[in-house]
Amino acid sequence: MAGIYIHIPFCKRKCSYCDFYSVAKTDAADDYVSAIIAELNLRADEINLADVTTIYIGGGTPSVLNLRQMAYLMDGLRSRMDFGKVTEVTMEVNPDDVTADYMSGVKSLGVNRISMGVQSFVDAELRAVNRRHNAEEAISAIDTIRNAGISNISVDLIYGLPGQTLESWSYSLNMLLQLDVQHVSAYNLSYEDGTALTRLRDMGKITEVDEDTCVVMYELLCTKLAEAGYEHYEISNFARPGYYSRHNSSYWDGTPFLGLGAAAHSFDGKVRRYNPSNLKDYLASIAAGHVAYEAEQEEWWQMYNEMVMVALRTMWGIDVETIARRFGEKMRGRFEDIAQGFVEQGVMQKFGSNYKIAEKGMMMSDTIIRELMYVED
Ligand code: SF4
Repeated sequence: MAGIYIHIPFCKRKCSYCDFYSVAKTDAADDYVSAIIAELNLRADEINLADVTTIYIGGGTPSVLNLRQMAYLMDGLRSRMDFGKVTEVTMEVNPDDVTADYMSGVKSLGVNRISMGVQSFVDAELRAVNRRHNAEEAISAIDTIRNAGISNISVDLIYGLPGQTLESWSYSLNMLLQLDVQHVSAYNLSYEDGTALTRLRDMGKITEVDEDTCVVMYELLCTKLAEAGYEHYEISNFARPGYYSRHNSSYWDGTPFLGLGAAAHSFDGKVRRYNPSNLKDYLASIAAGHVAYEAEQEEWWQMYNEMVMVALRTMWGIDVETIARRFGEKMRGRFEDIAQGFVEQGVMQKFGSNYKIAEKGMMMSDTIIRELMYVED
């Protein structure tokens, strides 16, 4: 198995909380999609393209690409690899880019899963973080996507938004449940250095939702989605049975993936590569016939930590037999000694040779994972 990630670093407007790399001007989009396919040709040997099962077009905002640019991307991929094993092609969209023609177009190009950043169904909360769309646009976008024949839809929400209360979060969750989408990702708002949101907070113009309220918001999220039949398969992700994000699941289990585009990351099973987080530098390096990525060969303990970190975020947890096989009996013993303490506190569970974080332990998952990681002296 393998995956391809394509990063589209354009956003028409910057959301105030966002520290992802993106640029507002989209006039380089033609050059950019050409560069992506040129990069694929340069790096085609890095992973086995015949093993690719998932493609994820993320950003930024991929839906700022017009259909001609999307066709260039998809045709370019098809010219280089067989889509025989590809079962999931996800594209992120912004609600106000969704039109019937656009969605029919991307469907005919092979996109079969849409991930849409909705964040909230309360307009004042959307305005508070400078989102481009309103709640009504998000609701009608879901209909439009379905009418175009794409039935696998994921919605992103954020809790802890400025001005958000338990009541308004509950309202957003109820709206979400009425839409009956297949997959939900929900994140706690974080105040990153250098963002407009953090500046507004530091100037006293907005108030951060306190941690205790965020904990209750997370619990409400988990309860409502469980009652509605969603599986809580990763700390921030919920799905109807069988609708897990296959692409993201492959990040969590260490499957190789090739990341194309500015700021994209790749992993070939041993080496992580980081493309330049700057559009100009990226385009210049591709034009010069190479990708100016930084490569990092992982030490064994970094691989161990990566495995612990990603596996324990999921409902499948981690198998200590795998730890023993990959990292030796000593590491298995160390893991079990620490994990057993958490099992006794009721925040981890053991089933067979697997350990996972219990629902009760989700809000302290960072602490649990940190304790289980290993730092070499
Ligand atoms: S649309 Fe997404 S990537 Fe773009 S600024 Fe907003 S949060 Fe960031």
